[in-house]
Order: sequence, then structure tokens, then C-alpha cells
Amino acid sequence: MRRTHFTDDHGLFRDSFRTFVEREMTPHHAEWDEAGIVPRELFASAGAAGFLGMAVPEEHGGGGVEDFRYSQVIGEELQYAGVASAGLGMTLHTDICIPYFLSLATDEQKARWLPGIVTGELITAIGMTEPGIGSDLASMTTTAVRDGDHYVVNGAKTFITNGINADLVITAVKTDPTQRHAGMSLLVLERGMEGFERGRNLDKVGLHAQDTAELFFTDVQVPVENLLGAEGKGFAHLVDNLPQERLSIAVSGVAAAEAALRWTLDYVQERKAFGSPIASFQNTRFALAEMRTEIDVSQVFVDRCVEALNERALSVEEAAEAKWWCTELQKRTVDRCVQLHGGYGYMLEYPIARAYIDARVTTIYGGTTEIMKEIIGRSLT
Ligand SMILES: Cc1cc2nc3c(=O)[nH]c(=O)nc-3n(C[C@H](O)[C@H](O)[C@H](O)COP(=O)(O)OP(=O)(O)OC[C@H]3O[C@@H](n4cnc5c(N)ncnc54)[C@H](O)[C@@H]3O)c2cc1C
Repeated sequence: MRRTHFTDDHGLFRDSFRTFVEREMTPHHAEWDEAGIVPRELFASAGAAGFLGMAVPEEHGGGGVEDFRYSQVIGEELQYAGVASAGLGMTLHTDICIPYFLSLATDEQKARWLPGIVTGELITAIGMTEPGIGSDLASMTTTAVRDGDHYVVNGAKTFITNGINADLVITAVKTDPTQRHAGMSLLVLERGMEGFERGRNLDKVGLHAQDTAELFFTDVQVPVENLLGAEGKGFAHLVDNLPQERLSIAVSGVAAAEAALRWTLDYVQERKAFGSPIASFQNTRFALAEMRTEIDVSQVFVDRCVEALNERALSVEEAAEAKWWCTELQKRTVDRCVQLHGGYGYMLEYPIARAYIDARVTTIYGGTTEIMKEIIGRSLT
């Protein structure tokens, strides 16, 4: 279906990002999958090409354009090219972490961090999840006790995307452990702070080129100048930023489904069984028709959500709808496409097999499908 919300500028941006992916990412993807991490230079080259800070004001080195359609283009092209796992760290950096700095950082913090974030010299991450809690964020136990001009941080985070590569970690802490939501704050922990240790790069089912790690904090002294936003308002800050995070995941979800369908259309027209292309069987045509329909319907909704985000009108509930719907769509579409590939669909040299192992986590991270339905359901009753 023809999409109407991109302009010629987005088209040119898409062409240039696609070229970047073909040149800088596709040739190295298998090697990065093997290594379990992308090199820091990937961020530096994406930064040099202007792909990391479209929304950052020009005075800090960014593009000065607040338009989520550029992020959408990046998220889509990474999926279409089959390099989702290598690109996840970049989209986390731009779509999920940068907005916290833009909306909450003081002028001094912006001047200190944003230029490096835009060039890719400073890689960002966000640490909410702990070994003992994920969905129930208000039960987190990492503490930050004020002591003069710094906080003393103790605790641990886990499953942190960019956990090994990150220089700046937006860390959710309890500044008042006697409170639940009202006791939470956000602190930026920096690479090299004494007592801030990284655990191992976790061994995941998929997303192999993405470093996901545990972080440990033992009496880390964090200057009060690293408080992001207001003390005690951490939960409210997370709630404000989560719709964009969830929409970013939804954008990638529909694009992943679209990519899977394209690869499958090629495959079923070439592959033969019983003397005929797989595509000629009615079962195949019905499966393709159902997937085409579901993707088109979902794409219209996601594009509308992107417009609403640009208008600052995307609600928490609408973002939750997009997140659970598009990631469940991704999961079932990729699974059906593996089936249509037969045994080759299970071989990692085929992009559909990598898409299959990469898809599974998307209904879990960024808030599970069940939590998304809780958010929507609560607003209805
Ligand atoms: C690859 C990967 C990358 C990640 N990246 C990050 C990151 O960068 N930063 C970060 O902070 N976190 C990250 N996470 C963590 C992720 O956000 C959490 O795993 C997720 O929020 C779920 O939390 P949990 O794993 O503790 O599951 P739990 O909260 O223990 O949930 C387990 C199950 O119980 C269900 N459940 C929980 N509560 C309810 C309820 N009230 N009603 C119904 N069902 C419920 C859940 O839906 C789920 O099915 C990442 C995780 C993975 C796997």
C-alpha cells in the first residue's frame, strides 16, 4: 500500500542510510554476530555520517530536526537489510536514550554530553531492569544515597543493551527506598567510575551482534551534577519517554515482518516441490495474502502513531497498542515465513532464520505484551 507520510527529504535520507548500511554494516554482520558485539567504530562512522543525532540541536552538533520519521527510516532499513542485531544499539542510542538527554538535561549537561553522543564517541544505554525485577519497576532495589555533593550508588542491573560498549548509562535508582514510584530518580553513570563494573556479555538466543550485559555498582560515587531530571521524579520521566521507546520497537516490528515477507516471496517463487513452485499451492497463497493484509493494516496504524508522536499527541496507551500488536505480528509472520522456507528456513545463512531468532525477544523487552495489555486495559475500565 502506498505510504503518504514521507517527503522527498525522507526519501533522500533513506537512500543515503541504505548506502551506509550496504557499505558499513552488511559486509561485517556475520563477523559481529560471531563476536557478540559491534565495534565502537560503527557508532563513530554513523555519527560522522549524521545518523546519530537528527533530533539534537545544531549548537550541540546535531541535525536540529525533531521528526521521528527519520528514526523510522533508520529502523526500517536496518530490518530490510537483515542487520537488525547490529543496528539495535544504534536505535537504542538515538530513539531511546537521546530523548532523555534532550528533555531532561540541564544546559551544562547538554554541553558536556550531547556533542560526544552525536559523534558516537559517547555510546549510551539505559538501565532499568535488575536481576530481581523487570516489569515491576517500582520494586527496584538499586539505591543512591546522597552524601554531600555526590550520590553513593549500590546495586545491579541486567539485560542492558549496549551494556559493554556504553560510556553513559542512564540508571534508574531509588533515592528514597521507603517509597515505590515516588522514590525513583535517574542518574547518569559514566565509564571508569570507581565501583562501576560490567559483567559478562550475556549469551542470548538471538540478536547475536548486540552486546547485552549485567552492570554492578559498589559504592559508586556519582556527582550530583549527573542527576538527570528531578530527584524523586524518575518514574514520571520514564513514563514520559516510554511511548517513543515502544513506538521505535513497533516500527522495527512491522519492518521485520515486511522484510520476512519479501524474502519469502522470492523464495517460494524459486523453490519447487512436486514439479511446481511452492508459491503455486493455495496454502502458500493464502498464507502470503494473510501476511500481506496484516502488515499493510499494521503499517497504516504505525505511520499514524509516528505522526501523532511528531505532534506530541501519542498517548501511553496508543504506544502500548503499537508495541504489542507489531511485535506479535513480527513473531507470527517470521514464524510462518520460516515454515514456507522449509528446512532452509532453519539455516542461519538465510536471513529468515536470523530474523526468527531475533524476533523472539521483541514481545518481551521494552515492556512485555502482557504489561502493554495491562496499560491499555486499565485505561478502559
Ligand atoms: C535482549 C534484551 C535486551 C534488553 N534491554 C534492556 C535495556 O536496555 N534496559 C533495560 O532496563 N532492560 C532491558 N531488557 C529487560 C526487559 O525490558 C525485561 O526483560 C522486560 O521488561 C521483562 O522483565 P523481566 O524479564 O523481569 O520479566 P518479569 O517481569 O519477571 O515477567 C515474567 C513474565 O510475567 C509476566 N508478568 C509480569 N507482571 C505481570 C502482570 N502484572 N500481569 C500479567 N503478566 C505479568 C510478564 O509479561 C512475563 O511474561 C532487555 C531484555 C532483553 C532480553
